[in-house]
This record gives sequence, structure tokens and C-alpha cells, in this order.
Amino acid sequence: MDTVSIPFRDKEIECASREKIEAIQLEALRRQVEHALKTDFYSKRFAKAGITGPQDIKTLSDISRLPFTTKGDLREAYPFGLLAVPQSEVVRVHASSGTTGTPTVIYLTQKDLDLASDTMARSLTAAGGSKNDIIQNMMTYGLFTGGLCFHYGAELMGAMVIPTSAGNTLRQLKFMKDFGTTMIHATPSYLLHLHSAIEESDELKREDLRLQKAITGAEPHSEELRQKIQDALGIEVYNCFGMSEMNGPGVAFECIFRSGMHVWEDRYIAEILDPDTMEPVADGETGELVLTILCRDAMPLIRYRTRDLTRFIPGPCACGRTHRRLARFTGRTDDMLIINGVNVFPSQIEEVLLKTPGVGSNYLIVVEKTGALDKLTVQVEITPAMFADDARVINALRDHLKAEMQALITINPAIEIRQPGSLPVSEGKAKRVEDRRTAL
Ligand code: ADP
Ligand code: ZN
Repeated sequence: MDTVSIPFRDKEIECASREKIEAIQLEALRRQVEHALKTDFYSKRFAKAGITGPQDIKTLSDISRLPFTTKGDLREAYPFGLLAVPQSEVVRVHASSGTTGTPTVIYLTQKDLDLASDTMARSLTAAGGSKNDIIQNMMTYGLFTGGLCFHYGAELMGAMVIPTSAGNTLRQLKFMKDFGTTMIHATPSYLLHLHSAIEESDELKREDLRLQKAITGAEPHSEELRQKIQDALGIEVYNCFGMSEMNGPGVAFECIFRSGMHVWEDRYIAEILDPDTMEPVADGETGELVLTILCRDAMPLIRYRTRDLTRFIPGPCACGRTHRRLARFTGRTDDMLIINGVNVFPSQIEEVLLKTPGVGSNYLIVVEKTGALDKLTVQVEITPAMFADDARVINALRDHLKAEMQALITINPAIEIRQPGSLPVSEGKAKRVEDRRTAL
């Protein structure tokens, strides 16, 4: 039988005993608690919870004494309320995708950035990546961590990185062919789109590409969809979980066995809690993922409620790593929509509608799949007076809504104007979103 060689960046840590991992976590948690007290935000929060310093954290289970942090807290602390070092120490800022208004930002010192890159490099190595790879990063560069944070990690691993960023599929294909790209990083929707583009191309065939692996994440997708992409492109597809609040991609990553994402427990404490009681669920049960970052100086984040639903996969992994694995995400506890990788809150759409004269009282947000991509349609009732107006006025309203929404959520929605009273009115809680996507 062939023996599979299993790649590691830091085998001692990646395969450390549970005792060792927990000892690292306890020490780091105590340090983070002490450090967090330097921020206005946590000094107030901790005081309320009766936490005065690291001496209150005697064992790992004392984490349950610490208060949670939410996205709302991050917005309130914008821009510098969670800064725990002098501002002159900060070298980079990132923000969560898609959200405007008050964004949730993170800041990093050079040391934070180096560690984040190391975590990313460790993840890519676990997936079988190496300095021999030619990696094309098709995630948006800019505030979104999927661009730069992934990029720095891939460079640290020693790969040759092509920062094409998102979109421009024909150019993506040209670079993939000309440079012999072996690994790509893209959303699952974009991977399917890329496959269709290859099928439709007259100039390029699958055989012209050296592509072996894709790293994917940023939006929920099913095991069936992974399989479909793997079969269509003839590659291995690796699931990667990340969020900007936790330094971006690479928080949890699949190894070459692709059976769940190892969450790097020397750098994060992952809890899975019942979202109603906020108590731990039974081992292997699904609940909300709550994360504490253990090694960030510029911006500590303690017990951050991700709103993502997942579970720990019980038992050891064939690779020998001891860091526990997270199962594929099954949804969220809040109403955030992820549309082609971009986070959108229905409240952002409502904000535009409410401030636009001529818009009536009812609307419906419809999300569906068209081919590989998600499509967002906003059905809008207009007022009787507006409805009586001529077509030019109505078209102008449609264009206005489209432009305003695109500016706010960075996604181009279709706007369907509806006559007053035509959309269903639900008894009780209004149903504003119809998500018609299945995972495939
Ligand atoms: P990203 O766009 O990389 O996901 P954001 O910080 O903008 O980063 O959004 C984070 C959210 O994206 C997560 O809370 C989660 O809901 C979703 N997400 C990220 N990676 C995955 C993944 N592999 N599977 C499912 N959902 C994911
Ligand atoms: Zn493994």
C-alpha cells in the first residue's frame, strides 16, 4: 500500500497532545484578558462581569465567566474603540465584506500580520500546498481579508502568487494557462462560473491547465457542491473558514483528507454553544461557533459570536493533527445573507427603500441561483400616486434604487416595481426575505 506523505508547517504544534494545546490556550487566554483590559471597551465589560485580571482565569473553563462580543459591539467601537496598542503600532486595517454604513474593522500590528500569514501558510501547507505551487488568488483585494491576508500567507509559504483579484474571467483563464497555475482561491459560486467559462471557451481547453487544487470558502456550500466542482474541473477542492474579525481565511482549514476543517487551537479558542442558552452543546452537536483570538495585540476579541452554525467532528483525523475539526457550516443564527461571497443584511436594503420617496410599505427580497451565481431581486411596492405616474418616472425610480443599493451593498440587484398592495402581506412577523437557493 502507498504511504501518503502528510505535509506539516509546524508538526509539533499541529500534532500536540490535548494537554499541551490546553496549556497553550490557558496561558494565551490569560495574556489576552490582561491585554484586553487596556481597551475602553473590555475594561468596562469585564468590570461588569467581575473580571479584574488574568488571576480570574484559573482554568480554561473559566472562559465561561467572560462576556461575549458581538458584531454590534464592533460597530459601536468603530473606529478605534478596541485598539489595545498605540495607533502608531498599527500597520494594516481590514473590514468585513459587503457592509457599508458602519463597517466592522480590524487592525493589525506587524507582529499580528506575521502571525496571521503564518496561520494561513500553515493552512495551505495542510492542504498540500508548497513553494512549488503557483497560486492565483481570485478573491477581491482591498478591505476584504480574502485578498491580502490569503496572499501574504501564500507568499510566506513560498508559492508564486498571482493576485488577479475577483472577476474578469477571461483574464483569469489566460493567466491560469500562461503561468501554469496549480492552485486557485475563489468562492464556490465563482469556481462553477469558471468551469462554465472553460466549457464555453474556443481558445482554451481543460487540458491546457495545470490546475490541481482550489481553496474555497466565504459562503456556505454543500458537500454535493464540492463534489460537483471536483468532478467538473478534475481537481481537489478544500473548504476554508475565515472571517475578517478573526484575521480572515485560514481560521479553520481542511487537510489533505478533506474531512472537516481543523481549527487552529493554539491560536483560537473555539466554543460551540446553544444560541439560546449560550451554554455548551453536547459533544458533536450543532450550535453557534464562538471564537476567541489568542494572539492579536492590536485588537483583542474575546468570545466573539460568529452567528455561524456548525459542530465539532468527533474522533481523530487520519492526518494525525490533534486540532479539532469543524463540520461544514449549516447556516447562521441571524438574518445575514451571503450573496456571491458578499455579506448583505436585509436591513441595508430596507434603509435605501425607507428613505426613497414614492416607495410604498411592502417589499420582498428574493435570492436565487441563476447558473453558478446568486441573483438578488428586490420587489418593491410603490405608492398609489407614484403608480399613477408615467413610465419614465417609474423607470427613474427603479434606476435610482438600483444605484443606491449597489453603492451600499456592492451587489447589483434587480429591482422589480410592483403596484400597491400586490405583494403578500403576512400575518404576524413580516417575511422580507425569500431565499430560494438550495445548496446546489
Ligand atoms: P468572508 O467573506 O471571507 O467569509 P467575512 O468576514 O466577510 O469574510 O464573512 C465571514 C462569514 O462568511 C462567516 O461568518 C461565515 O458566515 C461565512 N463563511 C466564511 N467561510 C465559510 C465557509 N467555508 N463555509 C461557510 N461559510 C463561510
Ligand atoms: Zn486532518
